[in-house]
Amino acid sequence: MSRTYHLTTFGCQMNEHDSERMAGMLDQLGYRRVDSREEADVILFNTCSIRESADNRLIGHLGEAKRLKKENPDRVVGIGGCWSQSLKDEVFERFPFVDVAFGPGQIPKLAEYLLSDSLSAQMGYFDFESVSGSLPMRREREFQAWMQISQGCNCVCSYCIVPSTRGREVSRPTADLVAEAEALAADGVREITLLGQNVNSYGRDLRPRVPFSELLAMIDAVDGIERLRYTSPHPKDMREDVIRAHAELPSLCEHIHLPLQSGSSTILKRMRRTYSQQRYLDRVALIREHVPDCAITTDIIVGFPGETDDDFQQTLDVVEQVRYDSAFTFIFSPRRGTDAAEFQDQVPHPVKRERMERLVDAVQRIATERAQRFVGREMDVLVEGASRTDPDKLRGRTRHNKTVNFSGVAQPGDFARVEIMSATSTTLAGEESLLARLS
Ligand code: SAM
Ligand code: SF4
Repeated sequence: MSRTYHLTTFGCQMNEHDSERMAGMLDQLGYRRVDSREEADVILFNTCSIRESADNRLIGHLGEAKRLKKENPDRVVGIGGCWSQSLKDEVFERFPFVDVAFGPGQIPKLAEYLLSDSLSAQMGYFDFESVSGSLPMRREREFQAWMQISQGCNCVCSYCIVPSTRGREVSRPTADLVAEAEALAADGVREITLLGQNVNSYGRDLRPRVPFSELLAMIDAVDGIERLRYTSPHPKDMREDVIRAHAELPSLCEHIHLPLQSGSSTILKRMRRTYSQQRYLDRVALIREHVPDCAITTDIIVGFPGETDDDFQQTLDVVEQVRYDSAFTFIFSPRRGTDAAEFQDQVPHPVKRERMERLVDAVQRIATERAQRFVGREMDVLVEGASRTDPDKLRGRTRHNKTVNFSGVAQPGDFARVEIMSATSTTLAGEESLLARLS
């Protein structure tokens, strides 16, 4: 009987994508994925270190792995990803039941470990390596794929642990990416999301340099790729050619995720984001000029050290001015080894909470108002499956990245024309226009 594995993923899309690679690699080694840890010969965690809440969740899960390892010492317990990288060899001291630990760039090392004769010895791999893009992948949906275009980040945001866990930025060669997009299209993929910590600085380390907008045009030209997305760009590198590409390239969707982090130029400076409130708003104005209907979403941190009531008010002011379609909001979490964790003027927790509540209220109110512009429109929806709330309905996504629940007859992977009947801050509801389907 084949050996089995169980994999739990924490954190961002990059990690979810890394997990697809881990799964693809394990499939190739003849391992079978199972739904419970009890059934698994190999228990894996792909970890995140971005905030403390993720650490706490992981430690709970590790407790279960420890118990299962005790029950059957032949089980292998592996920890990959950023949290593992940030602890390095300490992983084995703190969690002696762990057999193999590796960082985000070292997924192939997991296979090396599983194939080695020394399964009883602990093994850790923490050197940075270039992106392991050629690994097989197990995609969640056959018509959607992620493509990692770069690894690491050259920015030095003072709150962020990523540069120390994922290393300096390395872009994958353009020809490899185009070939990968062609192979994905031939395999039935219709939507690709390009991934990187700072996607729009892509290609600066390549010789000759390749601007991100050029990469977008090359992927757009691949036959069969009908939707193209990317995340996350950095506002400092959001140049006009990239914004214009959203108006010019047929597959590039009308959605830009533009992380704000703070609306106060003083705080942005302490965060080392290298843009001011004004420069950020100028980028937004340029987006609105070239792509008036573009959905704009963002990431915001509240309670960064030294954030005063006035600084926070400026964040709220930017939220009111930009009118985001949605926003991920985070309470600042001090991360070991980052400069911001050492700042003396930490904001007390109750103040952070209160600001978070006010921010979420504003974000939700505006998102609901913004979503009303879709009501009455017919929109193209890429069908992803059954609705999560009503199994008789379908669920899909618009080019603006809005989730739509609708009644209709389309199949997963189809594009449906859907008339939007109502909208909340997070989802749209509608009905498939069957006339459009017949025509
Ligand atoms: N590279 C991307 C960028 O710069 O926008 C995303 C990095 S991170 C995976 C996603 C988000 O987590 C960041 O945009 C930021 O809002 C948030 N984040 C990162 N470090 C944080 C910290 N120490 N505390 C709270 N939120 C944090
Ligand atoms: Fe972290 Fe800043 Fe790099 Fe994003 S741009 S990964 S927040 S250092």
